[in-house]
Amino acid sequence: MPPVVPTEDVDALLVGGGVMSATLGVLLSQLQPDWRIAVLERLDQGGLESSAAWMNAGTGHAGLCEFNYTPRRADGSVDVTAAVRIGEQFAASLRLWADLVAAGDLDPSFVRPVAHLGLGRGAEGVAHLRGRREALAHHPLFADTRFTQDREEAASWVPLVTRGRTGDEPFALTRSGQGTDVDYGTLTRGLLQVLTRRGAEVSVGQHVSRLRRHGAGWAATVTDRRSGLARRVRARFVFVGAGGATLPVLQAAGVPEVRGLGAFPISGRFLRTSDPELVAAHRGKLYGHAAPGAPPISVPHLDLRTVEGREHLLFGPFAAFSPRFLRTGRRSDLLRSVRPHAVPTLLATARDNRALTAHLVGQLAQTPTARTASLRGFVPTARAADWELVTAGQRVQLLERTGGRGAMVGFGTRVVTSAGGSLGALLGASPGASTAVAVMVDLLDRCFPARAADWADRLARHRGDTLDLDAVADARSVLGLPAVGAAA
Ligand SMILES: Cc1cc2nc3c(=O)[nH]c(=O)nc-3n(C[C@H](O)[C@H](O)[C@H](O)COP(=O)(O)OP(=O)(O)OC[C@H]3O[C@@H](n4cnc5c(N)ncnc54)[C@H](O)[C@@H]3O)c2cc1C
Repeated sequence: MPPVVPTEDVDALLVGGGVMSATLGVLLSQLQPDWRIAVLERLDQGGLESSAAWMNAGTGHAGLCEFNYTPRRADGSVDVTAAVRIGEQFAASLRLWADLVAAGDLDPSFVRPVAHLGLGRGAEGVAHLRGRREALAHHPLFADTRFTQDREEAASWVPLVTRGRTGDEPFALTRSGQGTDVDYGTLTRGLLQVLTRRGAEVSVGQHVSRLRRHGAGWAATVTDRRSGLARRVRARFVFVGAGGATLPVLQAAGVPEVRGLGAFPISGRFLRTSDPELVAAHRGKLYGHAAPGAPPISVPHLDLRTVEGREHLLFGPFAAFSPRFLRTGRRSDLLRSVRPHAVPTLLATARDNRALTAHLVGQLAQTPTARTASLRGFVPTARAADWELVTAGQRVQLLERTGGRGAMVGFGTRVVTSAGGSLGALLGASPGASTAVAVMVDLLDRCFPARAADWADRLARHRGDTLDLDAVADARSVLGLPAVGAAA
């Protein structure tokens, strides 16, 4: 064991340098400029795991086009509660980013306007899309969304999708001009720079290898991955923002709130093309329906992406399996995460989610020809040679047992707090980076109830449950995005 160098004391220790820690750090530095904040990241830069540009689909999820936020009820009506909530939460993210851009602290190039479209296929799909549109029409964030079944109009919106489409399968589209494409990796590094300028310690190559209770707070053992030297950091508050590795860190720290929870990693793969002709013929993010039995995260979409100034199209996701909890994790991650108290959860999840299991097995067995066939559901003229298969990040799905049944918490993130709010963590993977600000404000509420009154005014602006349309309009203008309600 290498020698442990002297102990440091901080007010807030943020484990991991992804978009969640970076967002929380910026919020904390605004609320408590006097606090010592440390962000410790094991890789050589922040934002290289799930938050990296190619590790996710870069959608600014705002509920504008994703069917999985608007399920159909038994009577055929559409429940838009989740879409509205996510639209409002994304507005909170826009506000924080715009504040930083307006202050000259953040370069806005990480976010770009791109239309968000929904594709309904078959009579059921068209009815669902129409119902979605009608149920959202009166909400100001969704008022600009247009619906069409007119083939010519559809061809002008998404030529790549209509070109070569034969047969008489009914289809419909919706289009909102308010959508965004976001490079969350660049955003994360920008936020970490803001934190450094505000006096926080942002250190890379630092692996938090052990976390233990220490008095009213926590003590972390931190190993420098280059030198192998270890140091001890004591903190009054710890946020475990370790992405896919969060559950194992909490398990090892003996956090009782995660007893009985399991985790299962699913990686996403996409087909990608940079062919300028194809890119020119698809100027949006187009979301379809998930296949029967498929988890919501597998909703197929065809996305225009801009990464490092270059445009690409992305189609997927296709589920893949890797036992690692981080892209750069260990092959033993899954096995090591299995604790005796979580075995009933794992067994119940396998028993009660047969359709999901069948879907995953089917995805794993998928051949390149089958992937091209799925792509042709969106791009009828697609040629396999124009598209390459790329692997995105790991989504570590949370498994839990409720009412005796095992469930994969495929949708929604779970804020965990422990030890009187001295520890906070985020489990689950969706809707992800888009809602980072609202989710981190929720975490602050839960971890620091005694400071609620002091922080109320400064936090009000960043809440995901209050919609101030003037503030949204200002934020969109600062970020160079079309105004709410602008014609799609
Ligand atoms: C295929 C896919 C598609 C997605 N698409 C979208 C999308 O379109 N829109 C969207 O909003 N979200 C999307 N997401 C979700 C989004 O990417 C994540 O929710 C978000 O990036 C999670 O951020 P994070 O900070 O929690 O984790 P991460 O970005 O993974 O950061 C965790 C960090 O912790 C570090 N770390 C881990 N363990 C330790 C340790 N012990 N010590 C020190 N550091 C440690 C890691 O190296 C990493 O940098 C997608 C995710 C996937 C996988």
